[in-house]
Amino acid sequence: MHHKVVIIGSGPAGLTAALYAARANLEPLVIRGLQPGGLIATTSEVENYPGFPEGIGGFELAEAMEKQAARFGTQYLDSMVTKVDVDQRPFVIHTDGGQTVTADAIIVSTGASPRKLGVPGEAELANRGVSYCATCDGFFFRGKKVVVVGGGNSALDEGLFLTRYVDELVIVHRRDTLRADPVLQERAFNNPKVRFIWNSTVVAINGKDKVESVTLRNLKTGEMSELPTDGVFPYIGHVPNTELFRGILELDEGGYIVTDGRTRTNIPGIFAAGDVADHIYRQAVTAAGDGCRAAMEATWYLAEQEHARAKATATASA
Ligand code: NAP
Repeated sequence: MHHKVVIIGSGPAGLTAALYAARANLEPLVIRGLQPGGLIATTSEVENYPGFPEGIGGFELAEAMEKQAARFGTQYLDSMVTKVDVDQRPFVIHTDGGQTVTADAIIVSTGASPRKLGVPGEAELANRGVSYCATCDGFFFRGKKVVVVGGGNSALDEGLFLTRYVDELVIVHRRDTLRADPVLQERAFNNPKVRFIWNSTVVAINGKDKVESVTLRNLKTGEMSELPTDGVFPYIGHVPNTELFRGILELDEGGYIVTDGRTRTNIPGIFAAGDVADHIYRQAVTAAGDGCRAAMEATWYLAEQEHARAKATATASA
């Protein structure tokens, strides 16, 4: 299977890259990965993507982007990429389904994954009360009490979504001021179901078969306490999904792909777009903008390659 452009990852960056590449007749293939639609597809309500005055569900937004790119000829493959061979041209991409795909250009838009707390009980009780997706799992916590960890937009946004179901939401934050946007802060402070525990971290998640409590440490006093809860939703930021490219593409100290400001990586023909290369903005709309830029860069790169090949052929036959 050969494609002029292969896009790895299917969030707003990848799907916008696909839309532009498809409209440039590059017949792109999107390898969707484990989470079709990317993280945005697991977001309850997106209120800051332009064009939707009443907001739109994250899943619906991702689905619409996917359909739009498909309309112009984008193909999709539901696999995980296991290896990318950049030592030969075209590039060779291997997937967990055993497929081998070759590509003249690659756009990496593998996004970022929720950062784990890294405390005892977190892995053991995953899906048994520990969840990183309020949209997916909120329903299971009807009438219950849950803890959200973090003080950013995700913690408040997803926490507020959880208040549709839960009786009590406790937000545990390591400082006494929030990083989240003022509009979300105001909503959280005014919501009677929401309570904050400041200057504290979760140091253990406890329970036999399901989450029963968390152990908290007050970072000011050092005091330890136990808080009964039915669920824990850590929203403490993200880590870029770049393991596949370690030792291949230049990464910064946080593991993000380094680009030249025009989505180009250190390997000509490989471009990076969205959260995988952005530790500053990390918005659906900036990721989509990046995807557009990466597709345009890939189009220009392929045209240059084509031109160089035609010139070499002409010279050889002269
Ligand atoms: P974030 O903005 O990086 O916030 C992470 C939060 O977790 C911070 O409050 C941080 O504390 C805390 N934290 C980090 N490591 C921790 C640890 N080991 N233990 C305890 N707490 C820890 O991440 P995010 O909320 O996921 O947001 C990511 C990006 O997506 C942001 O750009 C955000 O604006 C965007 N986003 C936007 C919306 C929206 O606009 N509605 C919704 C969701 C996400 P400190 O504050 O002390 O650093």
